[in-house]
Amino acid sequence: MKQERPKYPGKKSQKAFAVAQRSIPGGVNSPARAFGAVGGGPLFISRGKGAHIYDLDENEFIDYVCSWGPLIFGHAHPRVVAAVGQACENGTSFGAPTELETALAEQIIEMVPSIEMVRMVNSGTEAAMAAIRLARGSTGRDKVIKFDGCWHGHGDSFLIKAGSSALTMGTPDSPGIPRGIAENTISLTYNDLTVVADAVKQYKEEIAAIIVEPVAGNMGTVPPAEGYLEGLRKIADDNEIILIFDEVITGFRVAKGGAQERFQVSPDLTCLGKIVGGGLPVGAYGGNRQLMHDIAPLGKKVSQAGTLSGNPLAMSAGSEQLNMLNEGQVYADLEKKAETLRSGMVANLSKFGLKYSINGVGSMICQFFTEVPVVDYSSAVSSDTERFARYFWKMLEQGVYIAPSQFECMFVSAVHSEQDIERTLKAHYDSLKAIH
Ligand code: PLP
Repeated sequence: MKQERPKYPGKKSQKAFAVAQRSIPGGVNSPARAFGAVGGGPLFISRGKGAHIYDLDENEFIDYVCSWGPLIFGHAHPRVVAAVGQACENGTSFGAPTELETALAEQIIEMVPSIEMVRMVNSGTEAAMAAIRLARGSTGRDKVIKFDGCWHGHGDSFLIKAGSSALTMGTPDSPGIPRGIAENTISLTYNDLTVVADAVKQYKEEIAAIIVEPVAGNMGTVPPAEGYLEGLRKIADDNEIILIFDEVITGFRVAKGGAQERFQVSPDLTCLGKIVGGGLPVGAYGGNRQLMHDIAPLGKKVSQAGTLSGNPLAMSAGSEQLNMLNEGQVYADLEKKAETLRSGMVANLSKFGLKYSINGVGSMICQFFTEVPVVDYSSAVSSDTERFARYFWKMLEQGVYIAPSQFECMFVSAVHSEQDIERTLKAHYDSLKAIH
């Protein structure tokens, strides 16, 4: 019998990938893009408009990756494009202050409950690295508690049992991390307060910070258990530890003020990225005035700097996207749309008798091929990743682009239409039928 050839990637994507591999390690600038977790090769994207993307071979897909979260208003939104264009006309970078930076800072302070002052950087990684340094510099302590399966970018302190690409690539502990740094990172089970209390008891005076994704988004979507964030807040308060919420994904997504608004728990420091940059490279970290006053050139002069930090193009894109989030019923609409999608997926899954578990918080959704409720890293990795890979390719064949890994979220955007959701649910049904 003639073997069925997978439809994707198309010829042009295949060729582009082969060429890219000559000059770029693995052909990609971020490992998860290589499709290693699902086999085959990546699609090369030529353009995007709204909720849709197009590959080099001119295939169209409904996109639920949305650049891994930033594009809450979809691709090439005319207002974001216009804001960037206008900034561009005035010059792309000065390395000197502009009012665009203050404007975005004020918007962030207005929207995120715990932030009184904020510093702009260029990525979520930088934001998390700088937040940890500030916590260490301010407390004079070295150790940091993080959680298995959470991802805070590729800073040395975080690549210990990390989630996302490290998890996907099967290399949870990267070579190149000095032992001294690894020794100062304590990685614990997510959603378990007992292990945090025990670690704090053991290392009481040494712990500078607890850093957590308030809704984990890098081992799939994993919501915080009831009382978990409050419990972390209390442990931090009782032991003078700085509580950092990494809201690089959840910031401006699960509520206007992020997870801290949705769950009503205030961290000392917040890391932002993705949505805050409107699709351009931006990160930010912020917190109360006293703590932020320890950053150079002030107070204890905790170091952090950047040639392109506060870049005018990036500030303009971010500002315009935040403006749009403040108009109308964006969040109510997003929740409604995501709920239609999530409940439709549940209905489909239950028709095929597949082992599954599905998590969703607002417009973050993840379907796991395991019947165990996914509450932490070990339950997440009980998923059948081989089945996920087959599901992924079937979805793609039917024009739906989801992240090429079991351990990522589906991001619903404000520009996914009812028709997109309907088409997605039909593709979902047919994909499950093909793989069950
Ligand atoms: N923190 C979280 C929660 C993330 O999801 C990510 C990236 O996915 C990062 C930090 C790192 O951000 P960036 O990729 O912009 O460096």
